[in-house]
Amino acid sequence: MEVLNSIPIELELEAVIKRMRLRKRNDNILDNIREMLDIAVPIARPKAVYEVSYVENKNEDSLQISGVAFTSRVLRVNLDKVERVFPYVITCGRELEEIDIPSTDFIKGYYLDQIKETALALARQQVESYLKKRYALGQLSRMAPGAGAEIDWPITQQMELFSIFGGREKVEELIGVRLTDTFLMVPIKSISGIFFPTEVSFESCQLCPREQCIGRRAPYDPEVVKKYRPEEA
Ligand code: SF4
Repeated sequence: MEVLNSIPIELELEAVIKRMRLRKRNDNILDNIREMLDIAVPIARPKAVYEVSYVENKNEDSLQISGVAFTSRVLRVNLDKVERVFPYVITCGRELEEIDIPSTDFIKGYYLDQIKETALALARQQVESYLKKRYALGQLSRMAPGAGAEIDWPITQQMELFSIFGGREKVEELIGVRLTDTFLMVPIKSISGIFFPTEVSFESCQLCPREQCIGRRAPYDPEVVKKYRPEEA
């Protein structure tokens, strides 16, 4: 297990604008983002913990990772030919979460939120690059418990995922991410899941028919869905 305590990111105006997919820039918006960046940049400390794990005991729709059992048909199919994976928790960090903006100041709260999301996305990219370099990997994909509209990997398995790192208390001690009793993470701008090597890039969004999702990372693809149905695999 390795902890990355201060992931270097370039948290700057252009990165936030890109993340927000802003079509029209105006001075008012840019000034608000700049004002929030002035507060956020000096204190931002995104963090991550990951483990090098091995996949064992593959069954029809379950498997073990680091000896911990997971149930997900999609994960099982994705890891069919994979032996080594990288469970992770990545966070924008408590430092950003603890910036105190009055709850009545919706505009500043909104832009700060966008900055935290940008910090998390940049940190995730950095962790991915770091893993590729360190372990001589090609393309990486990722999956998370509870992701996707037709959820086949229950969010309750966050508990199992965190157990790979020694449990909820240990993850909180290492990188400040608290897993709640409803399996959400605090800071909310945190992600957890499993990176795995793939020849063909995979996104849970390919299996998710939900319309008008601002987080969509790939188009819904019924042909890809077929690959995960037991009768068509
Ligand atoms: S389309 Fe949206 S809801 Fe569906 S898996 Fe992607 S991000 Fe999640």
